[in-house]
Amino acid sequence: MMPGVHEVDVTPMDPERLVPFLRSDRAEEFRTIVERGRRRFAGRTVWNVSSTAAGGGVAEMLHRLVRYAKGAGVDSRWVVIDGTADFFAVTKRLHNRLHGEEGDNGELGDRERQLSQDVVADNAGPLMDLLAPEDIVLVHDPQPAGLLPVLRDRGIVAVWRCHVGTETTNEWTDDAWAFLRPSVETAAATVFSRAEYVPAWVPHDKVRIIPPAIDPLSAKNQPLDDHAVLAILGRAGIVDHSGDGAEFVDTDDRRRTVELTANVRRVGSPLSPDVPVLLQVSRWDRLKDMSGVLRAFVDGAVGGETGAHLFLVGPDVTGVTDDPEGKQVLDECVAMWEQLPAATRATASLISLPMDDLEQNAAIVNALQRHAAAVAQKSLREGFGLTVAEAMWKARPVIGSAVGGIQDQVRDGVDGLLISDPHDLGAFASAARTLLGDRASADRMGSAAHERVRDNFLADRDLGQWTNLLGDLAVGD
Ligand code: UDP
Repeated sequence: MMPGVHEVDVTPMDPERLVPFLRSDRAEEFRTIVERGRRRFAGRTVWNVSSTAAGGGVAEMLHRLVRYAKGAGVDSRWVVIDGTADFFAVTKRLHNRLHGEEGDNGELGDRERQLSQDVVADNAGPLMDLLAPEDIVLVHDPQPAGLLPVLRDRGIVAVWRCHVGTETTNEWTDDAWAFLRPSVETAAATVFSRAEYVPAWVPHDKVRIIPPAIDPLSAKNQPLDDHAVLAILGRAGIVDHSGDGAEFVDTDDRRRTVELTANVRRVGSPLSPDVPVLLQVSRWDRLKDMSGVLRAFVDGAVGGETGAHLFLVGPDVTGVTDDPEGKQVLDECVAMWEQLPAATRATASLISLPMDDLEQNAAIVNALQRHAAAVAQKSLREGFGLTVAEAMWKARPVIGSAVGGIQDQVRDGVDGLLISDPHDLGAFASAARTLLGDRASADRMGSAAHERVRDNFLADRDLGQWTNLLGDLAVGD
């Protein structure tokens, strides 16, 4: 591939289409926000720069923001930077350390700084060729942060959006911030998902807190009836079902059929649709603790006591180019699973979803979340956790670790159950047994979860916050 940036093609969607999903008392306010955005950004392009168009929460969120901004009449575009494997090893190290974990045992010193600068230099030229002086640029996460000083020097308003973080500092967070600070300090503003993640050296007046939101119309979250759910899971080879109707609506408003087959490691044939499922969908990232979910499910006899089956689901690891740890983490889970006694192994499946067609991938995730009796997000650290909002929107109760943004979403005992120590496998298993064994409580929590997302984590809230921030920076009114 040629070095430099490439643009992600996003189809516009009229924000008015979101209105039926919002609280009815918010419709007018939302229309006002859309109108204000249209006026404020007339003649300017709002650019997003990230390191991948696929896999993970940032890509998910950008598809949505760009889609509705364009639909509102705001010229909005998204480019992805190109980088080397060595560069992405450094940025993964930064990602882990911003979460307070060592990650690998590599350095963040002069060599790594030079490596980053080389990648920035390769991307900066092609990016600058695309920009006009009055444009606004949102730079997402550590990977492209080195572009911030270049943008500042060109007099372009650039905002850094950090999607990760941790509440407490330690030597690893210090290490990562020391590396990033010279770049981040040049941003016109910084945006975090939680106030607790903001480093002390960032001036207060330059910070905004904007938690992510989800798109109720995307292939990932759109309504699917029970028939479509089973047809999609049957077609993907995950559940034993052979009916037609594996359909969803894509971003171009076309009705499409799921044709992808998942790579499923399981004992025997596809699971019966009648078996209750505990699901975790995540990137194969150590901090998502997929292997901890498997260990807790097995050692805590969750399957044995409730008759439930565990689905651990992640992307095909060759499809997420900016995450070099993925294959290793998946291999570790597979090794753990293969060592289980055959009868226990039969209660859990490891599933990799192809990434060749992101909309089909999303439709399968949607069907999995709707099919699940309960959804787990047993992260050891979590920036926000879109998977949590996605499951809650589908009225699924969530068993989550009380870390990062999961705590802002799930109210313990109301929308699901929170585990205060994310390493406590016994507490996780006990919560899973409780939710899977008490259908009435699970349903009640699922309904509360749906309301919670509608009130707090849909686009009316975050599009409004972004419009205000960018409007203030670029227009000053
Ligand atoms: N996801 C997906 N396919 C997969 C695994 C994950 O589409 O096989 C999506 C998931 O539904 C969610 C996003 O990737 O939308 C993950 O976002 P989250 O904020 O939970 O975590 P991140 O990956 O950003 O750390």
